[in-house]
Amino acid sequence: TGISERERQLIARRERLLGPAYRLFYANPVHFVRGEGVWLHDPDGKAYLDVYNNVASVGHCHPHVVAALARQSAVLNTHTRYITDGILDYAERLLAKFPAELGHVMFTCTGSEANDLAYRAARTFTGGTGFIVTELAYHGVTVAISEMSPSLGQGITLAPNVRTIPAPDLYRAGGQDVGETFAAHVRAAIADMLAKGIKPAALLVDTIFSSDGVFSDPAGFLKPAVAAIREAGGLFIADEVQPGFGRTGEGMWGFERHGLVPDMVTMGKPMGNGHPVAGMVARPDILETFGQRTRYFNTFGGNPVSCAVGMAVLDVIEDEDLVANAKRVGARLMDGLRQIARRHELIGDVRGAGLFVGAELVADRETRQPATLETAKLVNGLRDKRVLISAAGPAANVLKIRPPLVFSLDNADLFLTAVDDVLTDIAKTR
Ligand code: PMP
Repeated sequence: TGISERERQLIARRERLLGPAYRLFYANPVHFVRGEGVWLHDPDGKAYLDVYNNVASVGHCHPHVVAALARQSAVLNTHTRYITDGILDYAERLLAKFPAELGHVMFTCTGSEANDLAYRAARTFTGGTGFIVTELAYHGVTVAISEMSPSLGQGITLAPNVRTIPAPDLYRAGGQDVGETFAAHVRAAIADMLAKGIKPAALLVDTIFSSDGVFSDPAGFLKPAVAAIREAGGLFIADEVQPGFGRTGEGMWGFERHGLVPDMVTMGKPMGNGHPVAGMVARPDILETFGQRTRYFNTFGGNPVSCAVGMAVLDVIEDEDLVANAKRVGARLMDGLRQIARRHELIGDVRGAGLFVGAELVADRETRQPATLETAKLVNGLRDKRVLISAAGPAANVLKIRPPLVFSLDNADLFLTAVDDVLTDIAKTR
């Protein structure tokens, strides 16, 4: 199925209007006009199963969220330099979902801004400038944060204060203790910084390591690394932009699986189910120094409409018991993928937590050589079956499976059948 004339024209128009920095997914890009639950619809009314979009976490266009947004935008929308009620109600409800040590929340519009704010607060509080991230991390778009987001590619020069360390990869650990290895890398990065006169400020990690290739296990592996950064006077910042809001199926946050309390937590994406709401939660003593030095004002962050949306998202997560659903359906996805792996040698590893699942494709199970080409074929083959998925990891050979949390067992079975079918097609042509 090639690109239709209509889409060809739209792509040309995009290039003319939006310029060259944007990238579309797929050899044959998809065009959507409507979303509902776990489905996205193209202009011909064909529905695509969404197994990828963690933003529309409670389902595309959830009526409760849409109603809250519409209701509040008809009443009041302004910034945070007036007294409004919604931000306080939302802050109270959100903070109640965190350990008591994390006593303040600040609102932004994007995960990038949340990380940028955490970056500034960490520098102010510690007096250090050194940051440690993983080798293929993505944390956002600001100058400071893009320069600690190596997944942006070769064109990005990391800042001199940034050190990268290998992701905690259990599949390729060769029997070594993942947590100890990860901590040893943190200590080496700290030693390297200190040797160059850079004082460590923080270890910043996405607690599910999404762009690195999805690394979830064993739960608890982050503990020694966090101890190492704290020993050096640095902070631990948990980037919950991807795993947060129930996705990992056991609690609200990915860091909970590690039995840790971060010093700061950043969040975004699913927080507003598509509306730009993001934020940062922190230990009050960290923000005290920051607040003494400077004021923070984010024109749109924490506005009444965004807070109403954030509140409605929390309602749905609770009312529809979506954390438990993530656990139940995620287990079905992982079991199903492991069964498929018995028939298809290409699947070398299945891992994840709740509805954040990674399936790693390898050309050879002994050498674990990444099957990059076959992964691209699988992603594009699924697209042709109207199933949306993408790949991550340094060799782009890890299926990134993170559907809306309202994904049902039937949706999971539909996805598994499609994967099995496409892998069978690929096997025929290999
Ligand atoms: N952190 C992580 C882990 C992310 O995945 C992203 C977005 N892909 C961000 C931060 C940045 O969020 P935003 O795009 O909302 O700025």
